[in-house]
Amino acid sequence: MTRLDAPVTESNCHRVDQEGPATRLLESREVPLGGIRGILVHRSLPQRELPMVGAWCFLDRFDDEQSNMRVLPHPHTGLQTVTWPIDGSIRHRDSLGSDVAVQPGELNIMTSGRGISHSEFSIGDVASPLRGLQFWVALPREMAAADPFFERFTDLPVYETDGLTATVLVGRLGEAESDATIFTPLMGADAALDAGAQVSLPLDPSFEYAVMVVSGSLDVAGHHLGSGPLLYLGIGRDALDVSSADGARFVLLGGAPFGEELIMWWNFVGRSDGEIVTARDDWERGSDRFGHVDGHGGERIPAPPLPTVRLTPRRRRP
Ligand code: MN
Repeated sequence: MTRLDAPVTESNCHRVDQEGPATRLLESREVPLGGIRGILVHRSLPQRELPMVGAWCFLDRFDDEQSNMRVLPHPHTGLQTVTWPIDGSIRHRDSLGSDVAVQPGELNIMTSGRGISHSEFSIGDVASPLRGLQFWVALPREMAAADPFFERFTDLPVYETDGLTATVLVGRLGEAESDATIFTPLMGADAALDAGAQVSLPLDPSFEYAVMVVSGSLDVAGHHLGSGPLLYLGIGRDALDVSSADGARFVLLGGAPFGEELIMWWNFVGRSDGEIVTARDDWERGSDRFGHVDGHGGERIPAPPLPTVRLTPRRRRP
């Protein structure tokens, strides 16, 4: 994914005063994504009030009946992209030479380190349904200069309990632990809850968590949650009771509160205005830093203009 919106400043600051278990409902917003006819995505993070959940810093859900995704090469720094199709496939090509069809049930994680570029296209020329999730994970400082790499997992661990089956994408849920490489304490799972089921999920009290419904509806922490909003759950819980009258598919995300101030601008995560400006310049001048994605000729997405004000981290609002 790439961003067409590049807010003047958008960043996070780890909130020093963790407030314990909380529930805060945050609406997603619809954002157009590049392409011939531009698909709409539902973006749940970042939000003004909540820049991150653990190292999760960007949550997009795409849900399109007639998609012809065509996202030309664009760069990333300082993050991992986690791509999890639900319906439909995406052809991923990157500057490491990866060229894969990302399919439902298969997890793709691209770790940008100091820099990578990639493209994402629908497969075939006919518009078809495309549903799925693409999330970004912020990398800690020590990974800012690391080499990029790409991972693909076709056999993910499953957490199962009576009435619930959850595919663990990253980190751990109960005893089910993903092999996906992560750099901070983090978890993410895609769970299917049967109609009429009531389940208690094991949580790590040192993590903050959030839940997002993909389909159906979920009763959780006093909320009746349909698809769309993100329910932030705070920190300090050792379990989470979920139930559903009609069944639900939902994503549970959690992680240790991210302890560094970050700046997110366009497709870059950095720690200073200078880092972001350099990354933008490197992309614009075609530096080796971001390599080359084969198959697109010279076509690529240009960086948007930088804001006229200095980029600074934004504090999480209480
Ligand atoms: Mn991207």
